[in-house]
Amino acid sequence: MTRLLHVAGSDDPAIFEAASLLRAGRLVAFPTETVYGLGADGLNPEAVAGIYAAKGRPATNPVILHVADVAAARALVSHWPEAATDLAARFWPGPLTLVLPASAAVPAIVRAGGPSVALRCPAHPVALALIRAAGRPLAAPSANRSQHLSPTLAQHVASSLGEAVDLILDGGPTEAGLESTILDLTGERSRILRPGPIGPAELAALVGPVDRWEGAVHAGEVQAAPGMAERHYAPRARLDLVAPGTGLPEASGAVAYVGLGKLPALPAGIRGILLPLDADAVGTRLYALLHELDDAGFDRIVMERPPEDDAWLAVRDRLRRASAKERP
Ligand code: AMP
Ligand code: MG
Repeated sequence: MTRLLHVAGSDDPAIFEAASLLRAGRLVAFPTETVYGLGADGLNPEAVAGIYAAKGRPATNPVILHVADVAAARALVSHWPEAATDLAARFWPGPLTLVLPASAAVPAIVRAGGPSVALRCPAHPVALALIRAAGRPLAAPSANRSQHLSPTLAQHVASSLGEAVDLILDGGPTEAGLESTILDLTGERSRILRPGPIGPAELAALVGPVDRWEGAVHAGEVQAAPGMAERHYAPRARLDLVAPGTGLPEASGAVAYVGLGKLPALPAGIRGILLPLDADAVGTRLYALLHELDDAGFDRIVMERPPEDDAWLAVRDRLRRASAKERP
């Protein structure tokens, strides 16, 4: 069994034990305010290689480095633009990842061989204390097998990664429930590579017009932007999105129907689940719900498509990827 230690606060002795494992090149999963991360010493290429092996992550998909403050971030880039100063002042610690030109300090494996590095200062007290105690940036992608659902509970990490992780710090359920917003600052204009808890309007208010990456990359194709494979964040059950209020005329097998704001009448035998028409609340709950439905053995999940406005951007993105069918 993987070791799992409960952490009560930022001075819990478990954090110091975890930090010494990280300094020794081992893997530790820990809570952040978005999802659980699979951490390794971000300056140790062998340790980072352990993350790729544990997740089954393609070498073309770079990892985010987690830092405790702006000074640590600046040491990892060759250029720190003014926009980064403004964004970090407003959103760090918090669920915003900045992509910047990497300095020579960043190992190639962290960058997937590219010229840039992704940096984030997480807001969870346990994550911050762990980074400080380790005394170095931590590479920490979501602590799940590649393409699977991200973990919002320590138990999700244990069941996805098992023995591959040396220690799991259990800090309870994560707050945001969806991965950080990723903003690329290396081009002429800033560009959102992954929508997340911080929306385009909040970013644009600080840095002016923000482009959005809307494309999709399919399995086996070269990725236009790293980590942008279409099928991702997927439950085991088949997930289909439908117009709100559609309901289900009939269904065979174990089927769950997820309504937003209200539930239509459903035939007997179909499990109806009601989520509020509130993007943040759905973001917090989404992965945990999909994990629960997988664990309960549902074959098919039918979920109502969220509204088209920007508040739902991150939830729509994850649902689109979670419901993408593998191409032959
Ligand atoms: P996760 O594995 O859930 O932490 O996701 C990390 C995301 O950050 C992936 O989508 C990566 O492609 C993205 N990422 C990490 N480093 C970079 C980078 N240098 N440039 C662009 N995206 C990056
Ligand atoms: Mg992930």
